[in-house]
Amino acid sequence: MPRETIIRPEDDSPEMDVPLRLNIPDGALDDDSALRPSRIDDMIGQRDVYERILIAIDATKKRREPLGHILFDGPPGLGKTTFATCIPRELGTSCQIASGATLKAPKDLIPYLTNAEERSVLFIDEIHRMQKAVEEFLYPAMEDFRIDLVIGEGNGARTINMQLRPFTVIGATTRAGLLSAPLRDRFQMREHLEFYPVDDLAAIITRNAAKLRVKIDETAAYEIARRSRGTPRIANNRLRWVRDYAVSRANGEVSLQVALKAMRMQEIDALGLDRQDRKYLDVIARVFGGGPVGVEAVAHTMNVAPDTLVDEVEPFLLRSELIVRSPRGRKLTILALEHLAETERLFSKPS
Ligand code: ADP
Repeated sequence: MPRETIIRPEDDSPEMDVPLRLNIPDGALDDDSALRPSRIDDMIGQRDVYERILIAIDATKKRREPLGHILFDGPPGLGKTTFATCIPRELGTSCQIASGATLKAPKDLIPYLTNAEERSVLFIDEIHRMQKAVEEFLYPAMEDFRIDLVIGEGNGARTINMQLRPFTVIGATTRAGLLSAPLRDRFQMREHLEFYPVDDLAAIITRNAAKLRVKIDETAAYEIARRSRGTPRIANNRLRWVRDYAVSRANGEVSLQVALKAMRMQEIDALGLDRQDRKYLDVIARVFGGGPVGVEAVAHTMNVAPDTLVDEVEPFLLRSELIVRSPRGRKLTILALEHLAETERLFSKPS
């Protein structure tokens, strides 16, 4: 059941006179909320996307019209939800959050559409997981702010059109390729989020260390950043672990040495790969002779869901040129074989 949370405007934001209402299905937001930027200005990196979004928001406020629909795509943890939840705050409107996976029939979407206030935002996470019938039901809502409801059955059935208040859909997906063309085309803006450079991640780590009240060396922040796979969520997780390690094993301060020891204990290597990433490479190397091999076969061998590999493991390995994808499957590169040999030596030695 959706859980409704009312977020009151911050005292120092005069333009936000409307409370931000979040309709949050259980589990839609992680426990990362303490570190999640609440204003778009607090977001670090992704400057091109940021600039375009700010222009769209500014124009919308001036025209007093709803913001055009926006689709964010990219691997998990790069800031899709953060952008989506910051935008209504900038607009001073309410925001409802739905998850594509739970929208199984048009009736699941109706409450969100009829509850949508004028110029508010409906954020649909994992929008590629919406059922086709729901997708089709959403088309007229996005295009003409109208839904077509069928009342009754058989000969007595009739369709009534229901007018909605103008609103904005913000969709997020890790798999833009799975969206049907008609759905994709209904988004006026499509923004692809890229992995973050080390400098941006180091800035996020430094700022979040201050939020977590932990003292951290600049060199340590950079080392954690280098081992965060280009992903703010992973950077935050690494930071939390390093902080815990520092509290338990050091004097609570994160020096480069403490950070390296903490990450070694979790077997996070110099490229930022963890045990699961290396297991994936190792399975392709040993069981499938380096590939090419289909992702399902690798997933079965590892006993994980193929989606986990496609969404969470492969994007960074592809970006780092450790694997390549061909029509016949995934294949390791020389770089991956060298990396496996090196990390095997490193982690087989006692620390
Ligand atoms: P996604 O929806 O793409 O999976 P999120 O928006 O949930 O990713 O981001 C995960 C976490 O990473 C956020 O809670 C936040 O702490 C952090 N984060 C993401 N993008 C940024 C950013 N641009 N600046 C600072 N922190 C960020």
